[in-house]
Amino acid sequence: MGIGWNFDNSYARLSDSFYASLKLHPVSNPKLVVLNKQLAEELGLDSAKLQSDEGVQILAGNVAPEGSFPMAQAYAGHQFGYFTMLGDGRATLYGEQITPKEERFDIQLKGSGRTPFSRGGDGRAALGPMLREYIISEAMHGLGIPTTRSLAVVETGEKIIRETELPGAILTRVASSHIRVGTFQFIANWGSYEDLQVLANYTIVRHYPDIPNSDHRFLYLLQEVIKKQAELISKWQLVGFIHGVMNTDNMTISGETIDYGPCAFMDTYDPDTVFSSIDTKGRYAYGNQPKIGGWNLARFAEALVPLLHDDEDEAVQIAQNEISKYPLLFEKNWLGGMREKLGLFNEEEQDKELINELLDIMKKYRADYTNTFRALTVNKLEMTSLHDKEDFNQWQKKWQERRSRQQQTIEDSMQLMKERNPSVIPRNHRVEAALDAAVNNGDYRVMERLLKVLANPFDDSSEHQEYSQLPEPSNLPYRTFC
Ligand code: AMP
Ligand code: MG
Ligand code: MG
Repeated sequence: MGIGWNFDNSYARLSDSFYASLKLHPVSNPKLVVLNKQLAEELGLDSAKLQSDEGVQILAGNVAPEGSFPMAQAYAGHQFGYFTMLGDGRATLYGEQITPKEERFDIQLKGSGRTPFSRGGDGRAALGPMLREYIISEAMHGLGIPTTRSLAVVETGEKIIRETELPGAILTRVASSHIRVGTFQFIANWGSYEDLQVLANYTIVRHYPDIPNSDHRFLYLLQEVIKKQAELISKWQLVGFIHGVMNTDNMTISGETIDYGPCAFMDTYDPDTVFSSIDTKGRYAYGNQPKIGGWNLARFAEALVPLLHDDEDEAVQIAQNEISKYPLLFEKNWLGGMREKLGLFNEEEQDKELINELLDIMKKYRADYTNTFRALTVNKLEMTSLHDKEDFNQWQKKWQERRSRQQQTIEDSMQLMKERNPSVIPRNHRVEAALDAAVNNGDYRVMERLLKVLANPFDDSSEHQEYSQLPEPSNLPYRTFC
């Protein structure tokens, strides 16, 4: 018995204008430092064998697994609003692993060396950011938010050169696919009409198989992607996740969160929160994410225009009509999620006002977003800095009255809140502590411990309470780097 690879490479069977096949770039001294055993099992892979030399050689990009077809995918994208050609500049897609449950997942190495799309880059990744992606993507999964997953991180044993020398690493990323808005933009700009049709049909089969085979199927694809992204971005907003680099090449067609670069979770509630050092204008600030989602979807719709109608004006009309529905769709998802966070089952006209009032109070007093909802959930108001604020107490009375205007009991309501308001998020100081121990001391225990609580973020053990503590106040804003 081998490791359990079971590749099918449907993407490789598409036109080779969609990708470049790759040769591997071996690294000198690979060492497996993190392995997601549960995910390995779900993929049908043997964890013990993945840890053997044979497994590590594969996770390091030194030896391609049996049945794989190493490639770099081509894509384009709007980066901070500007359109450009991109493609996998530092990733190797091995292929699609078919799991024991017959599900299909891309297995991709990130940081595996140069490709034809590397431009000036070295194709490599530093250990810190790869561990960061591992932690945050797994935290998102624990929170029930669609995301790419992380199977493993391998230290390469080689240094990479950034501002300083840093240890290199390779992350194995698992995704339902890596097809992006930018993939469609690439084909729409540089491919043929047939290529665009091929890509759209392929995407329907792979991600939206329930779309009926009718003349309207590309319209339905647009509708489904808009729906999925409205759901996804509302979930980000509900937990205070800030992606940080919502370029169109970082928006998947499957509706999974992808590309954990400068992302981080908001602590103090403030819609203007930006962590990314390169987002100087706040384009991707917390409060802008819903709007940017709509902007990116409009770029997707533009790419699909040739498929929507033979007459271009008609096609544009159709696209615009769908895009115009997104803001309301987003709000519906967000409101629904906020009602649940407040333990509300039914809908009332004034709910939005009630919710916004709470957010305004949180903003006014710079309250912690996660802990405010958790304090309401477990009815321990001393957990929040708001407990002695008159306007907060007024708000609470309104909320309690509102809660009583539904058939469900207070116990039902509290249960719902417990399932929607995490006690633990990957707080920046905890993530930094985990990375510091791993990168600077080779000590992975801090990270393992963090991952363990993040796997069940709605639990309330004493360990969870420990991880819900806020950092020491600091005058320096938290900054993240790509
Ligand atoms: P991102 O901002 O992570 O979405 O990456 C934008 C583009 O830069 C993608 O095409 C990446 O493949 C490419 N890229 C990022 N880092 C490197 C690197 N070290 N070497 C080559 N390409 C890179
Ligand atoms: Mg990217
Ligand atoms: Mg990135």
